[in-house]
Amino acid sequence: MPEKSSEGKVSEDTTSYSLNTEGEKKEKEQRFGFLNFFKYKEIKEDDVSDIVEELRTELLESDISYDITEKILEDLKSSLIGKKISRREDIEELVKDSLKKSIKEILEKNNSYLDVMERVKIKRPYVVMFFGVNGVGKTTTIAKFAYMLKKRGLKVIVAAADTFRAAAQEQLAIHCEKLEIPLVRGKYGGDPASVAFDAIQSAKSRGFDVVLIDTAGRMHTDKDLTEELKRIVRISKPDLKLLVLDSLAGNDALEQAKYFERVVDYDGVILTKIDADTKGGIAISLAYELKKPVLYIGIGQTYDDLIPFTPEWIMERLFS
Ligand code: GDP
Repeated sequence: MPEKSSEGKVSEDTTSYSLNTEGEKKEKEQRFGFLNFFKYKEIKEDDVSDIVEELRTELLESDISYDITEKILEDLKSSLIGKKISRREDIEELVKDSLKKSIKEILEKNNSYLDVMERVKIKRPYVVMFFGVNGVGKTTTIAKFAYMLKKRGLKVIVAAADTFRAAAQEQLAIHCEKLEIPLVRGKYGGDPASVAFDAIQSAKSRGFDVVLIDTAGRMHTDKDLTEELKRIVRISKPDLKLLVLDSLAGNDALEQAKYFERVVDYDGVILTKIDADTKGGIAISLAYELKKPVLYIGIGQTYDDLIPFTPEWIMERLFS
């Protein structure tokens, strides 16, 4: 029960939590004893200023952009200041809840969540097309994605529609062989759209559930690439377009995303190499900037290292 003053208001303990020393706390507990547990205290701006400053540094050091950091901290202040808490309540829990809520809101705002595993069951064959600049981890990601689908009992076929980069086809072939997944390849320098088209036809006639199409990612300013990507989309009519971005690429990732959005648009992002990024806060910044959902993250080089991106995962990573 909170103590009431003569005007019936909840009386406030004016001692700031942040300034409380262990000695002061003990002394007060002895004075108020058991009743002290039920005493309520209203949180004031001063009480949270240390926490806010500490978190500001932590969030910025985790690659969360300045704007997002400020938004998270404003949310935190408004959820804490004015709140009456009993000594039994844990202020840390309140802080964690508020951070989680803000991050969730940021990730969900304009980021209509997409359950890819449900989507692939809607249509047969379901066509997923991957875009991304060379080196971001696109080939590896397609292999991980294929493995994930295969583990769920879906029949997958892959189209190596980057006919200009022999190495890309070779690498995909090696992955597909290991995973025992069929691959449709084209002639070096051949028409990438026809490779994608053949794979879709083959999936239809042989009863495959999902077609994964790799596309070229040479210098994204290349004019021919722009036409090539537009054409491949027009001909294969993918059900889902995924952009693969490297979490270590910084501003380049944003530039790449703008390019692909303009040329072919895309439904969601897969962010690779999060394991090499110290905290993974870049995932929040990118989701915020791109206004597209970050659906999966790459967290290593094995086939199992592709996981759904969730607010819970990033919270764990940032604050544990
Ligand atoms: P592509 O040129 O976009 O097809 O890129 P690759 O798939 O060939 O990948 C480039 C390099 O990044 C390879 O050495 C991959 O093993 C590595 N890679 C891809 N995804 C990840 C990831 O999530 N984590 C780490 N640590 N490495 C990755």
